[in-house]
Amino acid sequence: MRLILMGPPGAGKGTQAAFIANRYSIPAISTGDIFRANVSQGTPLGVEAKRYMDAGEYVPDEVTNSMVRNRIDEPDAASGFLLDGYPRTLAQVKELDEMLGASGDRLDAVAVLRCDAEELVARLLHRAQTDGRADDTEDVIRHRQEVYREQTAPLIEVYRERGLLVEIDGMGEVADVTKRIVAALDKIHQN
Ligand code: ADP
Repeated sequence: MRLILMGPPGAGKGTQAAFIANRYSIPAISTGDIFRANVSQGTPLGVEAKRYMDAGEYVPDEVTNSMVRNRIDEPDAASGFLLDGYPRTLAQVKELDEMLGASGDRLDAVAVLRCDAEELVARLLHRAQTDGRADDTEDVIRHRQEVYREQTAPLIEVYRERGLLVEIDGMGEVADVTKRIVAALDKIHQN
């Protein structure tokens, strides 16, 4: 299975990505997690990415693209993967198409979590209190939602036109959202 999980910041992608990856025995590749690991290890990539992340901006496409290219070339991603947080721009869609084209692989589905905007801000403010991510202040949270609407939401139509889109109601309990995702993806997995 080659899957993309999309959704606005706070939609619960990271939580759901872990379940999905486990179910289909594929690695969950989260660009946000890779960036954060680099930030905490103080690598050059981390130093570069941190400036953008703290401001709620996207890291430049060239930086993100080459990082993903290296990651999906790893042996554990050879028979499938779940991308969480990538692609997020039209330029990244194009780049991913090229990466897949080069290896003759195709995406199976793009799952998008649909959530109410105010609920998202509330969830992220709550997360800020519990695990204190540097990009979880209210101004930055609102800015990240705006950047998502402007740069990432248009990708939904691109994948809808390709017939890959699976829309999932992301509101409510984590376990209920997981059930909805699994119900939708199992159908694709069996085909
Ligand atoms: P969120 O909760 O906003 O979905 P993530 O953990 O997915 O957070 O990402 C955190 C930050 O990492 C983003 O705000 C952005 O700065 C950077 N980032 C993650 N993925 C990408 C990407 N595909 N392109 C550019 N920047 C990215």
